[in-house]
Parts: sequence; structure tokens; C-alpha cells
Amino acid sequence: MSAQVKGWCPSAHRPMMSGDGLLVRVKLQKARLDADEVQTLCELAETFGNGMIDITSRANLQIRGVSDGTYPNLLDRLIAKGLVDADPEKEAGRRVTVQPFWRAGDLTDRLATALEHMVLPDLPDKMGIVIDTGPERLLSTVSGDFRLETDAAGNLILRAAGALAGRPISENDAPEALADLIAWFLATSGAHAGRMVRHLRQTALPPEWQTRLPRHEADRPDPGPAYGAHLYGVPFGQTDAAALRALMTTSKASHLRVTPWRMLFLEDARLVDVPGFFSTPNPLLGVAACPGAPACAQATVDTRDLARSLAGRTRGRLHVSGCDKGCALRTPAATTLVGRDGRFDLVQDGTPADTPTKRGLTQAEVLELFC
Ligand code: SF4
Repeated sequence: MSAQVKGWCPSAHRPMMSGDGLLVRVKLQKARLDADEVQTLCELAETFGNGMIDITSRANLQIRGVSDGTYPNLLDRLIAKGLVDADPEKEAGRRVTVQPFWRAGDLTDRLATALEHMVLPDLPDKMGIVIDTGPERLLSTVSGDFRLETDAAGNLILRAAGALAGRPISENDAPEALADLIAWFLATSGAHAGRMVRHLRQTALPPEWQTRLPRHEADRPDPGPAYGAHLYGVPFGQTDAAALRALMTTSKASHLRVTPWRMLFLEDARLVDVPGFFSTPNPLLGVAACPGAPACAQATVDTRDLARSLAGRTRGRLHVSGCDKGCALRTPAATTLVGRDGRFDLVQDGTPADTPTKRGLTQAEVLELFC
């Protein structure tokens, strides 16, 4: 199979072509892999791809640089190793992002297990379910349309993204309540809007679905010790297989959990210093930069070298985007540099799609501006 179509999320069964080859996304169950599975993934990334592995904003992993010729073998191996479901429809149904610090048997774990067995109707490709039911609400900025959360008293609620409040539900009723909310979305032509937030701008959610506020959101943790283990920051959310293998081996981690914040959570691990990962906060971890040229065919500029040079030197958050699509960050940043025709436009307090305050800057002119 060769998948060249854009405009949807890549998966293992529907890889997407990028500048450096096909992207093959591996959707993780409960955001977790054991050490052997990580080694397998690294080996497959090196054998069938270019060795680069992305961490996605929904806590999945993505093998880059796969060719049409190697893709069928890669898919077979991923299925054989149990990392991908052989059934494309079941694989497409893996839409859940979990709070990554769940513990065995806790509410998040139980809900994720219950939803794994749920057969979802056909939904727009980018729609997702978020389970954010740990002791703190951590995933409020993570994309997801149907959100299982808790209120201030710790009671479970189901909230439609875009609504301030949700509906109290019992744990046993969670799959049925989710099915009801999905049914409402589809029955009210939500599929035309494509996402719940857009749909709610045009269509009123019934009042019974918005009676209970979620608990306050907490700050996401920084790299370092957290939740009884260690968090490692990954610049730009991209690593290579050799570095990831070294991190797992050196730290002697039993399991890897992938977070939606470009950080990896290592269980039963020693704190180690491995090139390519940050075990303490670093300005580079706050910088958003897509792969740029040559990895993405839409880009006319290199993004990440410039982002490295500017990390910590700009006012507020920095976003370097290869074009005005802004894949690396959907929300506004204080400083955004947008590639266009081999040069950069500067947007202040906006997104790559907003009107620039300066246009056509060379890389040297950008560096002069901030360094
Ligand atoms: S923002 Fe543009 S250049 Fe960057 S990855 Fe997305 S499409 Fe490619």
C-alpha cells in the first residue's frame, strides 16, 4: 500500500507521506510500552525507517522515513509484535489519550480498559477521547473531543470539549454515557463540523450535559523526578532510535510511558544523563518547531537549528514553523517565525496563520533581531 493522501491523521494502516518518507503512527495502549517493546520499536524504526521517532501530541509514537518498499514489512512486524491491531477498523478506534501517571487498578486504568473494548461508530478522523481522571487534572490543553474528568470532589464527569461543564456519570455507566454523547454529536450533524469544539459554536449542547464543572487544572510536571519515577524532556518531540535505546538501557527502565507534552516517563528507572534528553527543565523544551525542510515537503526553511539558536532568547514562548499551517503548535505564541519562500515572517502574539509584523527576514536577520 502507498498512502499519499493528506488531511487526516496518519496511522499504521494509513501512513502519511512527508518530506522524509512515510509516517507510520503507533497508537499505544494506555500510553505504555515495556522495555522489550521499546527495543522492538527502535529496531523497526532503524530497519524500515530512517531511525527517527516522533512523540505526538496525543502521546503516541511515530516512525519516520519509511519507504513504499519497506512499509509492508514494517506493518507485518508491528502487527506480529502486538504493537498494531491487524484489523484497520479496530486500530482506527484507538482514540484514547490517558493521563500518563495512572496506577494499576485506579480509575484512569479501569476506564481505559473499559473503553478499549468499546466499538465506536465512525467518527471524523481527528476526534479523540481524553481520560483525565487522576488526582490532578493535567490534560486540559491536550486535544480531545469527549473528556472523562473529575469534579472538585473527585466525582466522574463526561464533558464535551468546548463546554465549560460536564455531566456527572458513574464509572459503570461511562461507556454508555460516552456512546450517548457521540450519538448526540452525530445526530446533530457534528460530523460536518469535524470536531466537538467547532460543533458547539453552532449547535447548543443540551443543558443536562453541562451541569458539573471539572476540577481546576494543575500545572503539568517538569522533567525530573515525578510521580515516583522520572520524566525526561525530548526537544521538539523527536528522538532517534539509538538515543531512545540508550535511555532505556542506561536507566534500566522496566517500562516507558509517553506523555502528550514531549516528555517520556520511565518506570523503575535510575536517573541518568543521556544525550538527546533533558532530565531537568531547559528553555529548549518550551520551544515548538515542526520538522521543517527537508523533512516536510511544505517547508522552505530549516526550523530546528534556528529554534535551538533562539531558545531562551525571545519574549515568551517561541514557535518556529516551516509554513503557515503551524503543525507544532495550534495555540498562539508570543513569538512565531513562519517560513515562506526560504525566509521568515515574524508574528507576535499569534499563530502562523496571523498577520506578520515583519516579513521576508533571512535567518541571519532573525538571529540579529533576537541574539
Ligand atoms: S507546519 Fe508546515 S512545514 Fe511544518 S510540518 Fe506542518 S506542513 Fe510541514
